[in-house]
Amino acid sequence: MPLGKEGPILHALSQCSICGERCEDRKITLALPNSTNGLNVIRNVPASVCPQCGETHFSIYTTGRLMRLLQSDTPPESVAMVPIYNIDQMR
Ligand SMILES: [Zn+2]
Repeated sequence: MPLGKEGPILHALSQCSICGERCEDRKITLALPNSTNGLNVIRNVPASVCPQCGETHFSIYTTGRLMRLLQSDTPPESVAMVPIYNIDQMR
């Protein structure tokens, strides 16, 4: 694969900022707390994930799409009951 095709910005994005490992493009599922004590789960979010340390990056474009989706009135694809545990509950 010719190296010259990758621009400097793309190259910086594909490199982990923590450990320097090359990140993989994946589609991930995000769970974001919302203001009403619940969670928003978003599937198929394109992310750059470090296989070494798990650091996850989103492009500015993807971040913008996420914000717009959550601020819009788009109905969710499905709704699930989600049990939430706290590890400190265990005795
Ligand atoms: Zn890393």
